[in-house]
Amino acid sequence: METYLPISFLNDFIFCPYSLYLHQVFDNSSEELYSAAPQQVGKRHHDAIDRQRKQEKSPNVLRGIYVLSERLGIYGKIDSYYPAEQRLVESKYAITTLYKGYYYQLWAQYFALQEMGYRVAQLAFFSIKDRKTHPIALPDAAAFAELQQHIRKIAHYDFEQEFVANPAKCLHCIYASLCDKTNTDHVYA
Ligand code: SF4
Repeated sequence: METYLPISFLNDFIFCPYSLYLHQVFDNSSEELYSAAPQQVGKRHHDAIDRQRKQEKSPNVLRGIYVLSERLGIYGKIDSYYPAEQRLVESKYAITTLYKGYYYQLWAQYFALQEMGYRVAQLAFFSIKDRKTHPIALPDAAAFAELQQHIRKIAHYDFEQEFVANPAKCLHCIYASLCDKTNTDHVYA
């Protein structure tokens, strides 16, 4: 049976590879148990917007649909796709920096949508908090190869190898209070 990586792992792995392992371990727990306050606030805003959007169903936008790429071996949900403009948008609660992991997530959604027969001509991030749109260029062949390389790295990562935690990241990690790699608790505890 084929296995596919969740698109969300592409960004989480860059933040900290070990967080993927902890995500698997605590996946069945209530997120409230380990989430830090900012993540909970962000998620609540995101959920509220999702609920509002579901009530305002529009034929002009596809929201929250599942996408899958056999070429890349990934699956996940997109945020918003506007067929008329062939525009794909990923929303985040508060964008201050466009991290590489954000690009990998949107690139993966883009390639998956294309593979499923949707045309995408524009890509953008949307920052919910300040309502700012951040357009980005479409990924080319080099970007596809880079993304494929990143996915392979995650797929072959050995979670039992020696691992040195980065305390600066642990300080802002939702798993810090449960992680066996650090004694640092997150700043929101
Ligand atoms: S607490 Fe630190 S080492 Fe543990 S998953 Fe988070 S960032 Fe990684």
